Amino acid sequence: MTVKLENIDCPLGCAKNDEIVLTGRDRLHDLPGEFTVVKCRSCGLMRTSPRPTPGTMGFYYPDNYGPYLGTQVKRREPTHLSTFKDQVKSLIHHFIDFNTMVLPPLEPGRMLELGCASGVFLYRMANLGWDVQGIEFSGTAAKMAADLGYSVHAGPLETAPKPDGVFDLIVGWMVLEHLHDPVGGLKKLREWAKPDAWLVLSVPNAASLEFRLFKQRWYALQLPTHLYHFTPQSMGQLLESCGWKLEKVHHQRILSNLIASMGYVLRDKGFGKFGQMLIDVPEGSAWWPYLLYPLAWIFSLFGQTGRMTVWARPVNNSTIEASS
Ligand SMILES: [Zn+2]
Repeated sequence: MTVKLENIDCPLGCAKNDEIVLTGRDRLHDLPGEFTVVKCRSCGLMRTSPRPTPGTMGFYYPDNYGPYLGTQVKRREPTHLSTFKDQVKSLIHHFIDFNTMVLPPLEPGRMLELGCASGVFLYRMANLGWDVQGIEFSGTAAKMAADLGYSVHAGPLETAPKPDGVFDLIVGWMVLEHLHDPVGGLKKLREWAKPDAWLVLSVPNAASLEFRLFKQRWYALQLPTHLYHFTPQSMGQLLESCGWKLEKVHHQRILSNLIASMGYVLRDKGFGKFGQMLIDVPEGSAWWPYLLYPLAWIFSLFGQTGRMTVWARPVNNSTIEASS
């Protein structure tokens, strides 16, 4: 397969005024190609350019692409042991909050998940009383979510038809950075949202210490599938240009990216085996996040962890008119 590349201008319509931030490659699957991250000097938004076109990007999402694996809903009959384990877990999470999938306090209503994968989060929210729908780029994953009984559009957000009715909550966990057209996507979501809805998105934070330390070896950089590299500031501007107002940024209390980035450094220095062990941490480990929690808590306090979850609300029309 030939991967076609395209150069793109700043999606916020700024006059061309870019600086090169770094050049990197696909480290997740070691697929060929070199990619550059540029930063728009006018608005600060960073993007991958040139980048694979929407039609050829599939090359960089092989069948063993992490987020599609190991995320199936496991339906099980509760046993004494599993009930005990669940109680211990909820006790631990009373004190340890990784701040990852943080939601505003809301009564159950209608929810749309962008990038619902095989439906784990849809399943969780449906069990809490939410009427859930999903959009999923991978046909295989979308089918698994649809088999759970939910309405799921298989394909990119760009081609998703307008759903019946509007949503109280729209979420996207680590998805926005993968979109070729985040401006079009966020405007579309704005049209599908109730006037008092919430939009909740998690993305890597390119303003973090991790990014500054590791640059092209930052685990959350994930070239070339991450097309945008947001900071709280550029995220706020992007949302605002699409009819959303950034209300809150939650810095996640997790350092898995930092450990995996150290793995990339070690691998580059010839310590392949030990490096790989650290690289596998974000996908596989259950206890690392707990061990590193105190450090992650401090990092997050200063906005320096590698991932953030943002809350936004629609800007209503009267506000747009008043400000124009
Ligand atoms: Zn710009």
